[in-house]
Amino acid sequence: MELTAGKGVRVTAVTKAFGGRPDIARALVGAGVAALGDSRIENLERLRTDCVQSPTVLIRSPMPSQTQRVVRAVDLSLNTEIETIELLSKSAVDLDVEHRVVLMVELGDLREGFMPEEVDEALKRVLDLPHLHFAGIGTNLACRSGVIPDGANMGELSRLADRLESDHSVSVDVVSGGNSANIDWLTSGSPIGRVNDLRLGEAILLGQEPLHRRALDGLHTDSFVLIGEVIESRLKPTKPWGQSAQSAFPRSTAPAESSGAWQTIVAIGRQDTDPDGLLMPDGVTYRGASSDHLVLGTQERYRPGVEMRFIPDYSALVRSMTCPNVRQVRCS
Ligand SMILES: *Cc1c(COP(=O)(O)O)cnc(C)c1O
Repeated sequence: MELTAGKGVRVTAVTKAFGGRPDIARALVGAGVAALGDSRIENLERLRTDCVQSPTVLIRSPMPSQTQRVVRAVDLSLNTEIETIELLSKSAVDLDVEHRVVLMVELGDLREGFMPEEVDEALKRVLDLPHLHFAGIGTNLACRSGVIPDGANMGELSRLADRLESDHSVSVDVVSGGNSANIDWLTSGSPIGRVNDLRLGEAILLGQEPLHRRALDGLHTDSFVLIGEVIESRLKPTKPWGQSAQSAFPRSTAPAESSGAWQTIVAIGRQDTDPDGLLMPDGVTYRGASSDHLVLGTQERYRPGVEMRFIPDYSALVRSMTCPNVRQVRCS
């Protein structure tokens, strides 16, 4: 918070990795975030039903079939389709509510967003439509293609904000520069320009920036721990035998060879988490996983019932926090 506030940037805390759990959301609001953002309407509705006191932001383009729910539960949405914006207006009129719209701009990562030259037309449409307020512009990088937020693309976003203001006599209040991958740019000394909002999930929850997975000063990197119980541990060869074809989950990134002659199985699987995203305890190597088994190489036998602890990355965290079979326990 000090880091962002010092640069004049507000934080929209992104709650999707923990399924919008109201107690965690409240802690974030207590820490001073300006808004709560989520990609799923269900999570934002949950925050509303639980009376979490914060502005809410839908950070994925609304589904046309959900615009009524969006204008009811959400103050502001990030948008990329004029047709959907028209539906938002219609729903807002029907329910007699106001809805704020941010237009997302594609700046190279090739996920969501209007192409920069399309923004003017979208903006004019928003200004024409009843019960909508044009709030500003935003972009999202590093999520699909790994394009790094830098002085060039952030500068382009700032210049676009200036140009829209002068060409359309509007005020571009929100300039939402991106996600946790923007932290490096934020701290690089590069001009912040017009950017005044970042949507942060991973940086807050896992205490690291996602481009190089460097820990951030003053934040915990082990706020979330996935604990599983050992169900088998014995000396086994590391190579399978017999004829082999495709395994059940052929795209695993587990190394083919690993140290440790003990093969230990933990009762965690692909249903419960993303096994490829778990940080192994010291001396333990990841050998593979199927839907319900996590197969590890260990240097000793672990007795059945022993608990093993793993730190999840973002992908593993999202899956674990949204899996009904993973019990969530809060420790102080
Ligand atoms: C998930 C998401 C974020 C948050 O990303 P982190 O890397 O967790 O900070 C921000 N913006 C959009 C549009 C997202 O989908």
